[in-house]
Amino acid sequence: MKIIESSQNMQSLALELKSLKQKLILVPTMGALHEGHLALVDQAKQLGDKVVLSVFVNPTQFGAGEDFEKYPRPLEKDQELAQARGVDYFFVPKASEVYPAGDQTVVMVTELSRGLCGAFRPGHFRGVATVVTKLFLICQPHAAVFGEKDYQQLQVIKRLAQDLHFPIKIIGVPTLREKDGLALSSRNAYLNTLQRQIALKLPQSLQWAVRAVQQGEQESRVIKEKIIQDLQDPQIKIDYIEVVDSETLEPLPKIKAQARLLAAIRVGETRLIDNLPLKL
Ligand code: AMP
Repeated sequence: MKIIESSQNMQSLALELKSLKQKLILVPTMGALHEGHLALVDQAKQLGDKVVLSVFVNPTQFGAGEDFEKYPRPLEKDQELAQARGVDYFFVPKASEVYPAGDQTVVMVTELSRGLCGAFRPGHFRGVATVVTKLFLICQPHAAVFGEKDYQQLQVIKRLAQDLHFPIKIIGVPTLREKDGLALSSRNAYLNTLQRQIALKLPQSLQWAVRAVQQGEQESRVIKEKIIQDLQDPQIKIDYIEVVDSETLEPLPKIKAQARLLAAIRVGETRLIDNLPLKL
C-alpha cells in the first residue's frame, strides 16, 4: 500500500491511472476505521482496479463546539487495517493540502442540506460537499463509495455529482451493525458502558417501526410519537425522528414505498444517527 500525503502527487497518480485505463475507486473517510469503513473498501474492490482510501478529519464540516479536536485519529492502526484489507493507496492529506492558503471556494447543495442533520448542524453539509468535491477533483475516481449510515450525506453527494457533471458513480453501501444492532460508528468510542446500553434504544426503535409498517401502520405521526416515547431517558436528547422520501428527503405524513426513517439523538455528549427503509 502506498501512502500519499500530497494532493498534487495524488492527482498525478490518478491521471496516470486514468491514462492506463485503470479504474480507481475512492472511499472517503475521517479515519478511526471500523468494519463499516472496511465494508466500503470491500465494495470498492469489486468496482474497479485500484482502491484509494482517504483519511481526512475535515475541519469545515464540524461546527463550533463539536468534536473536531477530540475526534479519534489512530493513524497507524488505520494504516494497518487499510493495508490488511487490500487498499492500494492511503491518501492522508494535511488540511493545507486540501484547503490551500487563501482558499475561499465552497460547494453547497441547497435543498437536500436544509433539514434533518442540516438543521442541527449549520454548515455541516456545505463542509461535506466542499471536501468531497475537492477529493473528487484530486482523486478523479471512476466511482466513489459511501455508507447509507450517513443517509442524508449520501443523497447530498449523489445530487452534487449529478449537478456538477462529475463522471463518477456514487455507490451506497448498507449500514454495518454490531451484533446487537447498534450501527458501527467512530463516535461509539465516546460512549461509556451504560451509554452504550442506552444507545441501543435507537436501532431497536427503528426496527420496531419497520415491523409496525409491515403490520399495516401507515401514519408517520403514530410511528414518530411511539419512538419519542420509547427513547425517553435522562441521558437521551432527540434531535429529530423523521419519515422522509428516500430521494428528496421531504417529510412524508403517510408511509409509502420509498419511505425511510431517519433519526439523530444525543446520548450524553455523543451524537448518534441511524436510519432504515420502511417497506410497505
Ligand atoms: P466517516 O469516517 O464517519 O466520515 O465515514 C466514512 C464513510 O464510511 C461514510 O461514507 C460513512 O457513511 C461510512 N460509514 C460509517 N459507518 C458506517 C457503517 N456502520 N456501515 C457502513 N458505512 C459506514
